[in-house]
Amino acid sequence: MKLILASSNKHKADELKDFFKETQIEIESAPEKLEVIEDGKSFEENAFKKAQAYYEKFKRPVLSDDSGLVLECRDDILGIYSARFVPEFPDYKDKCSELIKILSDEQNRNAYFICVLCVYISPEEVYFFEGRLVGKIGTELKGSNGFGYDPVFFPNKLGGESIAENPGWKALNSHRAKALQQLIKFFD
Ligand code: IMP
Repeated sequence: MKLILASSNKHKADELKDFFKETQIEIESAPEKLEVIEDGKSFEENAFKKAQAYYEKFKRPVLSDDSGLVLECRDDILGIYSARFVPEFPDYKDKCSELIKILSDEQNRNAYFICVLCVYISPEEVYFFEGRLVGKIGTELKGSNGFGYDPVFFPNKLGGESIAENPGWKALNSHRAKALQQLIKFFD
């Protein structure tokens, strides 16, 4: 099965493509990037919007990813708006530093990364897969691998390292990896 990828985020695409290497599913970049307005009220809605837009344009099965970082103590920042947090700072190092500043007096630092994958085969056949990774927001940036909010996210199961410090662990245990494991099992 061939799926075109409804994402222009190179980091996400690399993480996704790596996963399919040993499977019967082939991932291809989309012939062209589409601007999809992500105004859905949930990760599922946004993943669906992206997948549907690419399907309608290219008439081929699509894989889309909508993901973000959800804070237990605040639902007015990040979440489905993770990519739009402090838009005046486009660099993610600055976004991470701003997040640490905003949470400086906050005791509850629990958070989770979530990834919702949508496989849009046809208008009659659409599947969703979800993965989560639970952890805490740190008090400083650590590590230089990965992307986005990786340097401030410390998974509960990673013994004090951020996921930007341990890309090997991230590849196997991340929210995206968990969603992908389910997807691959389902299509197998
Ligand atoms: P989307 O591209 O609209 O799905 O937005 C995803 C947002 O969540 C962006 O701000 C990403 O940087 C962030 N994000 C998603 N997955 C990860 C991850 O694996 N590590 C770090 N940040 C992530």
